[in-house]
Amino acid sequence: MKKLLFIATIFLSLSCSNGDDFEPVYMDKIFVENPERTVKVNIIYVENEGDAKRSYNFNEQEFMNYLNGYYFHRLGIGLELNESKVLANEELYDLRDNVGSEASTFFMQSQDSYEKGKLNIYIIKRSNIIGVAGMGRNQRVLLTDTNIFNSTSPHEIGHALGLFHDDEITNIMSTTLNKDLRQSFNEEQEKRIEKRIDQINLGM
Ligand SMILES: [Zn+2]
Repeated sequence: MKKLLFIATIFLSLSCSNGDDFEPVYMDKIFVENPERTVKVNIIYVENEGDAKRSYNFNEQEFMNYLNGYYFHRLGIGLELNESKVLANEELYDLRDNVGSEASTFFMQSQDSYEKGKLNIYIIKRSNIIGVAGMGRNQRVLLTDTNIFNSTSPHEIGHALGLFHDDEITNIMSTTLNKDLRQSFNEEQEKRIEKRIDQINLGM
């Protein structure tokens, strides 16, 4: 039995003001005491070559609570912060120089710093990327620092855990431009995620 710790209703305001007729979206934050599955998360701050210190300012535990409360605990999955570290990598830090090949640059440059038995989330400055909000594949996620607390995070984590895009506009894996509409994974996606997490925890 999942034990509900608390439910908080949070109003997510829609930022569209140009005549969109979307209804406001309400989502409940749901926490369970002991999720059936957990996956450990590494957060990796990408810095410029020579910068050994992290220049990003955000609360990692708040980020885990955001992901767990809105998206993952309700699936019986808990994301647990393992460690956070800094990766000095000029190529990755300034992705503007790699327009059109951001994905291949990301996977190449993160090859030595990601851990197999973890979910690895790389944080990059939005100002250093032009057209990409985030990416995800092979248990690696790249997020820009302005897209940490919106549905880009679970969307890219979904990709990193093996999910593809979905046509349903309220599905987290939808490609809708209105990110507030993306709310949930479907059952099939849930099963895929669970399977992938089991593999990750086995170091596969
Ligand atoms: Zn996507």
